[in-house]
Amino acid sequence: MNLFNVYPINDIEPVRAQGSWLWDNHGQKYLDMYGGHAVISVGHCHPHYVQKLTQQLQNINFYSNSVRIPLQDELAQKLGELSGYPDWSLFLCNSGAEANENALKLASFHNGRSKVVAFTKAFHGRTAGAVAATDNAAIVAPVNYKNHVTFLPFNDVLAVNEHITEEVCAVIVEGIQGVGGIQVASEAFLRAIRQKCDETGAAFILDSVQCGYGRSGRFFSHQHYADLHPDLITTAKGMGNGFPIGGVLIAPKFAAKHGMLGTTFGGNHLACAAGLAVLEIMQQENLVENATQVGDYLLRNIAEMGGYRELRGRGLMIGIEYDFPVDELRNKLLFEHKIFTGVAGKNTVRLLPSLALTTAEADVFLEALAAEVRVLV
Ligand code: PLP
Repeated sequence: MNLFNVYPINDIEPVRAQGSWLWDNHGQKYLDMYGGHAVISVGHCHPHYVQKLTQQLQNINFYSNSVRIPLQDELAQKLGELSGYPDWSLFLCNSGAEANENALKLASFHNGRSKVVAFTKAFHGRTAGAVAATDNAAIVAPVNYKNHVTFLPFNDVLAVNEHITEEVCAVIVEGIQGVGGIQVASEAFLRAIRQKCDETGAAFILDSVQCGYGRSGRFFSHQHYADLHPDLITTAKGMGNGFPIGGVLIAPKFAAKHGMLGTTFGGNHLACAAGLAVLEIMQQENLVENATQVGDYLLRNIAEMGGYRELRGRGLMIGIEYDFPVDELRNKLLFEHKIFTGVAGKNTVRLLPSLALTTAEADVFLEALAAEVRVLV
C-alpha cells in the first residue's frame, strides 16, 4: 500500500532530535526554527518529557473516559494556574481542528444559534465546522456546508460592529494569524469583538492553537491586552510537544451536561503526561519569558538587517514578508545552511521555533538569513 500523496515533502529524513536541533539519517545536523509547525514548544526530546512519558507508558497508557483519570485533573489544575484561567474548565481532545469543532458546538449548544463569524485569511483546521470557518476555498469540500459562515475583514472594527448581531452564534478568531502570515489581532479589534459578543450573546472563541502556549511571550497572545477575556480558548500544537493533544478552555458560564461532548482518545494517560511535562518544563525553565527575550532579540536583529517589506509577530512567532517569493530563500536556508523555517503565503518566511531557543541559536539563523538576504535583495 502507498501513502495517500497529500504532502509536498522535503527529501530529508530526521532520525534524532534534541532541543532546537535535528539530525538526519546521514548524520547531518539542522537548526529547527520551525518547531515542526509550532508544535515543539519545550524543545525536542527534553529529558523531563522523555522520562515522564516513559514512566507513564510503563504504568498505564490508555483507558477510556469512563473511569477516573486523575492526570486529567492535574493537567487542568496546572493549565489553569499557568494560563491565568484557574476558574475555567477544560475539555480535552486530540488536535486543533477538534478543539475548534468542539468550541463551535459548545457555543451553539449554549445559545441555540448557528451563524458563525470568521475572518479573512483565517485557518481553523480541516474538520467540517473548523474548515467551514477557514478562509481557503481549496480545502473546503461540498460536504463542509458553510452557508452559515460570514467572513469579515481581519482587524476591521467597523465590520465587527456592523455584522455581529443577535443571530450570531460564535465569533472565531486567531489571536495571531499563523497560516494567514503572522498577522497580529489588534487590541481595538479584539475589544470590539468582546463588546459585540457581550451585547448580542454570541460566544467569543479565541483560536490559540498556533499563537498559544507561551509562543507570543504571554501564555495566550490575547493576554498582551489587559483584562481582555474570550469565552472559549482553543489550544493544541505546543500543548503536547509532539504528542497529539488539544483542549478547549471554557468560561464558567457554560454548563456541562453528560454526553454533550466526547472523544475516545481525548485526555488519555499518555497525552496528559505529555501535557503535564510541557507545563512543568515551561514553568521550571521560564520559557514564556525566554520566548519574549529571544523573540525580541530576533525581531531587533532582523529589523537591523532590513531588506524586507514588513516584519510582524510577537515572541517566537515571527513573519518576515519580502517583496519576492520566498521559496528560494527557504530552500537555501534548508539545503545550504541546514536550517528549517516555515513559510506563509508566497512572500513570508515564518519562524516558529521551540520556546527554549537560545540567542546563540538565534545567531546561527540570523547569520544565514543575512548572507542570503544580501544576495537576494
Ligand atoms: N487553528 C490554527 C490557528 C492552526 O494554525 C491550526 C493548524 O495549523 C489548526 C487550528 C488546526 O490544528 P490541527 O492541525 O491540530 O487540527
